[in-house]
Amino acid sequence: MSRILFASSEAYPLIKTGGLADVAGSLPRALLSLKQDIRLILPAYPEARKRLGKCKTIARFELDGHNINLLQGRLPGSRVITWLIDCATFFDRPGNPYMNEQGQVWPDNAERFAFFSQAICAIATDQVGLDWQAELVHCNDWQTALVPALLDQETRRPATLFTVHNLAYQGLFDYDIFVTLGLPPHLWHPDALEFYNQLSFIKGGLVFADSINTVSPSYAEEIQRPEFGYGLDGLLRHRRQQLSGILNGIDMDEWNPGTDPRLEQNYNRRSLAKKLINKTALQEYFKLPKKPEALLFGFIGRLVEQKGLDDILASLPGMLDGPVQFVFLGSGQHEYEQALRKLAVQQPDKIAVQIGYSEELSHRIEAGADAFLMPSTFEPCGLNQLYSLRYGTLPVVRKVGGLNDTVIDIHPENLDNDSATGIVFTGAADDGLPEAIQRTLQLYQNKTRWKQVQLAAMRQDFSWRRSAQIYLELYKTSLERNPKPSN
Ligand code: ADP
Repeated sequence: MSRILFASSEAYPLIKTGGLADVAGSLPRALLSLKQDIRLILPAYPEARKRLGKCKTIARFELDGHNINLLQGRLPGSRVITWLIDCATFFDRPGNPYMNEQGQVWPDNAERFAFFSQAICAIATDQVGLDWQAELVHCNDWQTALVPALLDQETRRPATLFTVHNLAYQGLFDYDIFVTLGLPPHLWHPDALEFYNQLSFIKGGLVFADSINTVSPSYAEEIQRPEFGYGLDGLLRHRRQQLSGILNGIDMDEWNPGTDPRLEQNYNRRSLAKKLINKTALQEYFKLPKKPEALLFGFIGRLVEQKGLDDILASLPGMLDGPVQFVFLGSGQHEYEQALRKLAVQQPDKIAVQIGYSEELSHRIEAGADAFLMPSTFEPCGLNQLYSLRYGTLPVVRKVGGLNDTVIDIHPENLDNDSATGIVFTGAADDGLPEAIQRTLQLYQNKTRWKQVQLAAMRQDFSWRRSAQIYLELYKTSLERNPKPSN
C-alpha cells in the first residue's frame, strides 16, 4: 500500500470541464479498490464544495499570507477521501475552474494554480499537521505541474508522477509573472521552467517529475515528434526513458446502457434491438424526421479545432444526399457554434445542434446515435469513443493518439476475424472524413455486419481496473526513481 496524493484542478462529479475530470473522478476510486491509501486534492470552488456535501475542516494553515482551510469529505458515490483547498481569495468564485461566467479566463490563473501547487507541496510533505505524508504525488496537467519543480527543492520528498492529459494546454505566462510568483530564481532556465522567454508551468512536470505519462501509448509517441510536440518534443525525447502511455478507462457504472437512468430505454448486447427506441427518442428531441433507416451520427465535445470541426464543416454539406442525420452537442469557439447553427437552419431535416453542456443529453446521444463522429486532429486519449463502443455506437475516428489505440477499423480482414469495432481513417482534411462517412454508410446497409461490429464494440473492456493496475506499476517505478525519498 502506498500513500498517494492525487492532485487535479477538476474531478467528476465535483466539477468538470473535460476528460481530466473523468479521470480524476475514476482513477482514485480504482486505486482505492486496489488497496492504496489515496487522497484526492483539488481547490474548493463553490460548486465542488457544495457537491462534496458533508465535510469537516481537518487543518488550518497560512501560505503566502493567505489563510487556508483544508476540508475533508468523500468523493460522492465512493469512499475516496477528498481534500479541498479552501482559500476564498483564489477559489471562491463563480464560473468554471479556469474562466468566469462570461467565458473569460481568470487573469490571475498563474497565481491561483501556483498557490494550489504550493499548498499541495505543504500538505504532501506534512507541514500542516495532518500526520499523513505522501509517498507519491500524482500531478495532472499544467495546473499542478509546478509541484514536481517545487518538491525538487526539498532534501527529502515524495516521488512525483506527472500525467499529460493534453500537451496543448501548457500554462504559459510572461516573465513578470515568474517574478510575481516569487519562484526560486534558478528555475528561470531553459532546463527548468523557462520556455522561449516565457514561464511554462507544464515544464515543471516534464522536467522534474520522476515519471511522466500520457493517456495513451500512441500519444506518448506522437508528442515526441515536432508535429505534435509544441516545441516540447525535444525535451520529451530527452525524457523518453521516463515517459510512457496508459490508456484512460471509463466509469463502467456511469456509462452502462443496461442501467443508465438517463436513457429512454435500457439495452445490452442481448437486447440490442431496443437501442432503436433511444434513436427515435433522440430524433424526436432534436426534431429530426423519425426515420429508422437514416444513419444517425452523433457528436459531443468541445467545439475547438482539436475536435476536427474544420473537417466536419468542410465535409458535411457534401454528405447530406444520402440517408444520414447528424446531431451535435457542444460549446466552444464562437465561429464553430455559429457555423453549426447555420448548417442546422439550412438543413433542418438532416442536422440538429444544441450548443451548451449537458451530461444528460450526452448519454442520450451515445445511446441514440448509430455512429459517433470523432475526427480529432490529435487526441491524447479521448473518452467519447470509449463510451460509444460501450453503447454499440460505432466510432468514426481519425487514426491518432488514443483513437488509434482503442478503435479497430472495419477493414475486411478485421471484419472477418471479428475484431473490427469502428471506422478509422487517415488522410487529408478533404478526403479522409468523407470517405469514412461513406464507408460507415456502406456498412450500415449490411445489417448483419453492422450488428457484428456493434457486438464486438460492446465486448471491449475499457474499465479502470486494468489501467489502475498499470498506474500502480508506474507508481512503484517512480518511487524507485526518486533520488530523495522522504521515508
Ligand atoms: P476532452 O477532454 O479533450 O474535452 P474527452 O473525449 O477526453 O475530450 O472528454 C470529454 C468529456 O467531456 C467527455 O466525458 C464528454 O462526454 C464530455 N463533454 C464534452 N462536451 C460536452 C457537452 N457539451 N455536454 C456534455 N458532455 C460533454
